[in-house]
Amino acid sequence: MEHSASRRAQGDNLSYFIEDPGTGTLYRRGQLLGKGAFGRCYKLTDTSTGKVYAVKIVPQARITRLESRGKVEREIELHCHLSHRHVVGFHRHFADRDNIYMILEYCSRKSLAHILKARKTLTEPEVRYYLRQIIAGLRYLHQQGIIHRDLKLSNFFLTKNMQVKIGDLGLATRDEQAGRRRGVVCGTPNYLAPEVIAKKGHSFQSDIWALGCVMYTALTGCSPFEITPKQEMYQCIREGRYPTPNHLSPGARDLIGRLLAPSPSARPSLEEVLEHEFFSQGFTPDKLPSRACHSVPIFAL
Ligand code: ADP
Repeated sequence: MEHSASRRAQGDNLSYFIEDPGTGTLYRRGQLLGKGAFGRCYKLTDTSTGKVYAVKIVPQARITRLESRGKVEREIELHCHLSHRHVVGFHRHFADRDNIYMILEYCSRKSLAHILKARKTLTEPEVRYYLRQIIAGLRYLHQQGIIHRDLKLSNFFLTKNMQVKIGDLGLATRDEQAGRRRGVVCGTPNYLAPEVIAKKGHSFQSDIWALGCVMYTALTGCSPFEITPKQEMYQCIREGRYPTPNHLSPGARDLIGRLLAPSPSARPSLEEVLEHEFFSQGFTPDKLPSRACHSVPIFAL
């Protein structure tokens, strides 16, 4: 394509214009949004509609090994059929000789990890606000038979109007595949559940464990299992032993304890999480102002 051939970006080998060979749609590549395990993510504009997206660009040269190519293909295969208000939208995907392109919904306020970094801790009403949306997205994924396997703050993206979108299905799997691949810990999930450490495989309940780690981290600013050396950390995970966050409400502490139950079958379902007193007896804001990205929001009750 003439545009791309003539307008090579300085410093890297990517063209400023990207054409979808299937539809002929021409996109203009914008600023770098971040770097991932296999490639980079850029802002992208459809030149005919002006609509803005995020594009994940994976160089073909980075995935020459069959294993890494399979991971990228699986991410596309799982993500491209999904459509939910709280899951990052998957617009299109295509490939050329140099790269694989995944065109995604643009989340301009980055992720919950960025917010936590600026804020240190979040308030309980905010955590209810974010968790309700995360649970809605996760319920949908689980209904589709998909285990995310890497739920963490940096995979919860935020749109301009502070809506949460679960993203990065790079480690996700279908339930039946998880069964067949029991014992295989692929990639490096952030929050390892006891059964994952024990190589018993990753189940829907392992996502619930990760949700407990997310809730703990958002409310305290620290991960529940941050201890080194690794063997000691694994022991704490197996026993569900973590520093008690005394400054939290009894409801928050109780819910964290249930989510971080060492036995997967003892953990609540997503429906039960929403029925817990942490949600039923506490206020959840309908909306969050964007200033909540860097300072404690004041809720007018
Ligand atoms: P990895 O999966 O290896 O963590 P990604 O390629 O998914 O990395 O993302 C790399 C970075 O690009 C993220 O940390 C984030 O800052 C940014 N990013 C990814 N997806 C989006 C999106 N949909 N909207 C805005 N930024 C995004």
